[in-house]
Amino acid sequence: MKPIYIPKGAAKEYGDYALNIYTGCPHECFYCFAPRVLFKKKQEFHNLVEPRKNIFDETIKQIEKESITGKLIHLCFSCDPYPKGFDSSTTRKIIKLLKRSGNNVQVLTKNGLDAMRDFDLLDGNDWFGITYAGYDGNVSDNNFIPSEEPNAGTPHDRLYALKQAHKLGIKTWVSAEPVINEADILSFIECADYVDMWKVGKLNYYQSEVNWYKFGHTVENLLKSKNRIYGINFYIKQSLRKEMEK
Ligand code: SF4
Repeated sequence: MKPIYIPKGAAKEYGDYALNIYTGCPHECFYCFAPRVLFKKKQEFHNLVEPRKNIFDETIKQIEKESITGKLIHLCFSCDPYPKGFDSSTTRKIIKLLKRSGNNVQVLTKNGLDAMRDFDLLDGNDWFGITYAGYDGNVSDNNFIPSEEPNAGTPHDRLYALKQAHKLGIKTWVSAEPVINEADILSFIECADYVDMWKVGKLNYYQSEVNWYKFGHTVENLLKSKNRIYGINFYIKQSLRKEMEK
């Protein structure tokens, strides 16, 4: 087993290196691709959430054997590094290990509150990111739980964690993928001055009322102007880019 790997295809758009810590994820996002990638049944993936067998020892072994250092490693692609309601102490151990060996991490989560526990391990060379799909509801209300992500941390908590990371000098990013409510995404981008990097992607494999051509150009123009004025970075995912070129 080699826990640190080079993602291929669309997964590569998340990062050059990735590491998946858990066997599953309880957040039950309706659009979750992970069961498909792992050839698992949905319920099995969402119910059986534990650290992958020997993940910590195997990561040490791989780092030592391959002298892995100086890399930015994405946590995680096929699970959330902070599965809500489950023990995520292995994530802390893995981050410590990666940092100790001279690597940096790029966290992506939908569980802001648990993730903040590990901010003491991160510095200005690490990235902390949340998924924000755009929602039909009041995201400033901490009781608002999007039906599309029923067991994840609330959007309110994710935004709070992102702001805290920014205050601490950790680089911040938002994976606006898959976009569900495009108007909400655009207003978030408009007002968020604590995000260093945006990655925007469409909803794939499911019906959507979003006009991807129009949204893609609108969001790109907005991000370009933010880039000019504030220097923030952005990336349009390939599947959305294709729609923009139709
Ligand atoms: S947080 Fe990610 S891995 Fe977990 S259910 Fe949602 S899409 Fe799947």
